[in-house]
Amino acid sequence: MLEGKKGLGLSIVVPFFNEEKNLEELYGRLSSVLGGLNKDYEIIFVNDGSTDNTQVVLQDIFKKDERVKVIELRTNFGKTAAMAAGFDYTRGEIVVSMDGDLQDCPEDIPRFIEKIEEGYDLVSGWRMDRKEPFITRRLPSRVANWFLATLSGVNIHDFGSGLKAYRREIVRNLSLYGDHHRFIPALIRNMGVTVAEVQVKNEPRRHGQSKYGLSRIPKVFFDMITIKFLLSYSTRPLHILGPIGSFFGLCGLFLGARLAYLKIVYGEQLGTKVSLSICVLCIFLAVQIITSGLLAELLIRIYYESLGKKTYAVKHILDHRPS
Ligand code: UDP
Ligand code: MG
Repeated sequence: MLEGKKGLGLSIVVPFFNEEKNLEELYGRLSSVLGGLNKDYEIIFVNDGSTDNTQVVLQDIFKKDERVKVIELRTNFGKTAAMAAGFDYTRGEIVVSMDGDLQDCPEDIPRFIEKIEEGYDLVSGWRMDRKEPFITRRLPSRVANWFLATLSGVNIHDFGSGLKAYRREIVRNLSLYGDHHRFIPALIRNMGVTVAEVQVKNEPRRHGQSKYGLSRIPKVFFDMITIKFLLSYSTRPLHILGPIGSFFGLCGLFLGARLAYLKIVYGEQLGTKVSLSICVLCIFLAVQIITSGLLAELLIRIYYESLGKKTYAVKHILDHRPS
């Protein structure tokens, strides 16, 4: 984390990937909300390798407002890395992150600040009335939220909302990898923090497209898999090893169930059956591959943290008050 000037009240961090049409309105609404808060603030816009006019619009906004800072990343590193970049340059005692597509409403921010000032360490948005398709977005999100709350013990309804407020120490100690921006409330659980939830409005996207949901094309050659792994999965190896391990695990379970059926219903001798060996092999492989994935997850954390490596690369920074 980069050290900055002390005493700034509030930092807003917004990542953008091809959001040229949403920027001006977002900036305007954000400024009028923040202007009414009676706090010294900065707005950190992170351009995550946009290929449209996002950078040009950001430069124009930067020129007219000295509280705006623009971090332009070299290429598209993904929302998590873009947020990490923004967090690294914050100077505020309170940090607020939000999406740049106007699905999050700047007008909700004051209630987040109030909660932090009440003493909470993290305040997370809860999108009560989501304006997204049920089957492809809301249903999977509801299932994921239930699992996350159960697994992490953090009892909130909506882990994935972009709108969140953090006490400065939280973002300082937060290491973000892969697509982990969705799991921040769970990730910080072990820091012993207090988490509050605030109901927020959720607007439909009016301009541009959602950046999520596109499936990746699988690579077949070993070299290509290796390159893909290094470029895309080196910060999240379990995303590739997990499905492979699960595939073998399911094959093993299926074969095992079939063999148990043959044994119980028909009393067949299983000792000589080839499928018994295959079943055992599959389950063994599943355990091996998934544990390798978990080990790899540990290793990449050691790799990045020991070398102080970042998950993003900055091309250019526009800052009226460089520290
Ligand atoms: N975003 C980003 N880099 C990416 C993908 C998305 O900075 O690689 C930004 C995007 O511009 C938006 C926010 O992250 O400000 C949320 O993205 P999106 O609206 O596509 O996600 P969804 O709301 O569909 O989950
Ligand atoms: Mg969105």
